[in-house]
Amino acid sequence: MARNAPRHDIDESRLEVGAAEDAAAGMKGVLVSLQRSWEQMGVSRTTRTLPLLNQRSGFDCPGCAWPDPQEADGDKRKAAEFCENGAKAVAEEATTRRVGPDFFARHSVADLADKTDYWLGQQGRITHPVVLRGGDTHYRPITWNEAFDVIASELRRLNGPDEATFYTSGRTSNEAAFLHQLLVRSFGTNNLPDCSNMCHESSGTALTETIGIGKGSVSLSDLEHADLVLVVGQNPGTNHPRMLASLEKVKHRGGRIVAVNPLPETGLMRFKNPQNLRGALGRGSPLADEFAQIRIGGDLALFKALGSLLLQAEHDRGGVLDQQFIDECTHGYDEFADQARWVDWDEVVEATGLPREQITRIAEMLIDSERTVACWAMGLTQHKQGVDTIREVVNLMLLRGMIGKPGAGVCPVRGHSNVQGDRTMGIWEKMPDTFLDALENEFGVTMPRHHGLDTVDTLKAMKTGNVKAFFAVGGNFASATPDTRGTERALRACALTVQVSTKLNRSHAVPGRTALILPTLGRTERDPQESGDQFVTVEDSMSVVHASRGRLAPASEHLLSEVAIISRLARKLLGPEHPIRWEDFEADYDVIRDHIAAVVPGCANFNRRVRQPDGFVLPNGPRDNRTFTTKTGRANFTVNIPEPIEIPEGRLLLQTLRSHDQYNTTIYGLSDRYRGIEDARRVVLINADDIASLDLADGDLVNLVSAWSGDQGVTEERRVERFRVVAYPTAKGCAAAYYPEANPLVPLGAVAERSNTPVSKAIIVRLERTTGPEQDL
Ligand code: SF4
Repeated sequence: MARNAPRHDIDESRLEVGAAEDAAAGMKGVLVSLQRSWEQMGVSRTTRTLPLLNQRSGFDCPGCAWPDPQEADGDKRKAAEFCENGAKAVAEEATTRRVGPDFFARHSVADLADKTDYWLGQQGRITHPVVLRGGDTHYRPITWNEAFDVIASELRRLNGPDEATFYTSGRTSNEAAFLHQLLVRSFGTNNLPDCSNMCHESSGTALTETIGIGKGSVSLSDLEHADLVLVVGQNPGTNHPRMLASLEKVKHRGGRIVAVNPLPETGLMRFKNPQNLRGALGRGSPLADEFAQIRIGGDLALFKALGSLLLQAEHDRGGVLDQQFIDECTHGYDEFADQARWVDWDEVVEATGLPREQITRIAEMLIDSERTVACWAMGLTQHKQGVDTIREVVNLMLLRGMIGKPGAGVCPVRGHSNVQGDRTMGIWEKMPDTFLDALENEFGVTMPRHHGLDTVDTLKAMKTGNVKAFFAVGGNFASATPDTRGTERALRACALTVQVSTKLNRSHAVPGRTALILPTLGRTERDPQESGDQFVTVEDSMSVVHASRGRLAPASEHLLSEVAIISRLARKLLGPEHPIRWEDFEADYDVIRDHIAAVVPGCANFNRRVRQPDGFVLPNGPRDNRTFTTKTGRANFTVNIPEPIEIPEGRLLLQTLRSHDQYNTTIYGLSDRYRGIEDARRVVLINADDIASLDLADGDLVNLVSAWSGDQGVTEERRVERFRVVAYPTAKGCAAAYYPEANPLVPLGAVAERSNTPVSKAIIVRLERTTGPEQDL
């Protein structure tokens, strides 16, 4: 039986636990950036590559979606406009290590399945397209032409287009994403799951309903000019490190920061700005003025309590609410206020673990602030009530009129560089009819209207055999999804799996009956086509669309760009008579952008505007002019009732998280130095009081066991084995472990209401002391 969490290449016994760092970034961050870059790229390539990262004439960081400084805001880009994790992301992509045919001849698929994502990623860039045919033990080289023949004939053999699913990772460019959805819909399905289903889907669902757009309502300048920034369920020091420079500006301008998180993450507390000598070498700037160490899952109760305090203050002293905004721009205030006035403080304190006095202090900060920005990430979205929680954040902002005014707004912080742009380009299983109408008008092809499958529903359909073919542009589906064992079985059961990839990952080791790996260009590389070198475009977390131009020679002469792969597959699959001229796209990406301009709202004159030095900003009704395209035509207050999470005696509520040496499922190394954890990944962070009350000791080996009620009410236990207990100042009753190692604990059925996002931040676990050898799961 295959192991669920292969780990033979990491010696977990080498775990070292030291003191957590007291400030993020600084000189240490600079040195680690250089060291990792030199290891992967060498000195000369590092010198040629990093200065182009996030520069106007360079390439967009393949890491997170944090925006770049805008000339229009009077902000110049620094010579080094990147963070440690951006440098690591580039080093991994621009590495000189190679995975060629000889590698695949040496390593069978069974061998690859026994390696961690860390080992697989360290092997380097894939240089040739390869195929694994039924019964084969090793991937073998295949020509591109043959590869497209195999894929097209497998897809045509299905009983219908809905038996195939087409995943997109958030690194995919706008141009490739637009073509990808066009190919998929021309083929006849809307099965377009993406990584957003697993991260900010709850944000999109809540924001679309309440303010009419599934995106944030702030610019970088808004954030930096806020009086008060709420950073909720987010660890910017690791996941969006350049955000710390913006938070530092907030502090320098006299603003305040409230951090709400179960763990006292280093990046929330203090920042040593490496852009200047004093920052890099000094003690750094303190960030959070108020750290609310909330219990996992307590955020909805907290925001409801804050809303109630604002209403009470309005009643007691007046002048707190923005009555004009509420009257002119919102809907549902009375119903919201009737329900929100009453609050049971015992329940709030129990759910949040926060003292009432602290919540009252935060309410006073909200009242004092004329410009408030609320930022959040997975700590809010990956909960059963994730959508309700974000709706409650919006309620709070509406009370004070904090949408659509400078220095104020909502800010879901996106984790992958073009995850927002991919959605704008139509990567969604349920795009509105207006978008599909525009596609039909532009291309003269009938588009399917029935909704497709998201990520969780794709997995369910794979399990029942209703989906038999899986095609992914980027990503690491097997490690990004919950229910790891079930996901891997589902991929193996597919007739066809195809992955467009730059590097190896776990998903390549759990192939379908026929499996192909199609190697593609990275962001750092030149993309020469018939009409000359091409550039691609991306959209950042704040709706700025801009160009990205790679400069390095491609890792291999056998690579194709994502655009070329999709265009050539389309020609094979849809045939030469198809009305869309796919060959034109590959030759000149301007042609794609002209179509985008005709189809995607806000993208008129795309080719001209994206060539402006900073690109252009997509329209955003709530931000631009307080226009809310909701069902009521106004911003909607909503009523959200917290459902307490019942945690049985002796159990903990566990969240999954990244280490500092990790980006999504890509493991760069084994150092989580901000938390003082080195050389191992199978750790579970628990408050010392909880360790004592569970009769455990720091350093004990435990299995983590989650239990869920299945479809027929049958309790199903899930287990990950041999995790080392680490005493850590988490909120009491809470625990944390890295993903993807802890992903098997989350079943497919455990999802956020309405967004279908896996609840990876709220897993009830018991700890089983173990000394035995690792067992098959
Ligand atoms: S903050 Fe994000 S986008 Fe910027 S360099 Fe770091 S990882 Fe890249």
